[in-house]
Amino acid sequence: MTGRTHDLAAFTLLNLVYIYSQPSHLEFSTVLVSVGANLIGGLTPDLDQPTSEIWRKIPAGSFLGRVISPILGGHRFISHSLLGLAIFGILGKYLLDLMHPVLLVNYTIVWWSFMIGVFSHLVMDSLTKEGVPWLFPLPWRIGFPPFKFLRIRTGGIIETFIVFPLLLLANIYLFYYFYNIYLSFLRSF
Ligand SMILES: [Zn+2]
Repeated sequence: MTGRTHDLAAFTLLNLVYIYSQPSHLEFSTVLVSVGANLIGGLTPDLDQPTSEIWRKIPAGSFLGRVISPILGGHRFISHSLLGLAIFGILGKYLLDLMHPVLLVNYTIVWWSFMIGVFSHLVMDSLTKEGVPWLFPLPWRIGFPPFKFLRIRTGGIIETFIVFPLLLLANIYLFYYFYNIYLSFLRSF
């Protein structure tokens, strides 16, 4: 999947989780940092690809990408698995602990937003022909639907004209159907 689809998928899942959990007393700073962490999480597994969008957003990213990609075993390897999800979770927690004195936000919510982003990335890449090694170090690449010919091509017509618009529609639906929840959320600031 392309970076923009991952961004939108991460946000969609975050939006969905928000609707069903409706955490109370969210500060504006927490919301802002959480959405940022969510979008970063949505791109994080592609740290294993030097040309990925996340590296393009970082200064000296193309150099760093070429160094870190082989450490992660190349594209769609450990960073695209449940083990990778756990490792990113631990590293994310560690980074947030370091930032603790600097940012006045709810760190648990920021961490969950980041993890939701990472998880959404794995789900979305599972829809592509290449699949994802969810059970790494077991070597199988798993995809949905299970038959490869039914899955989609990264950056292809189906992703651009069906998957991306469907994700947009899902957000519009959530905003429309649950507008009362968003309204009281906005009034809380
Ligand atoms: Zn990926």
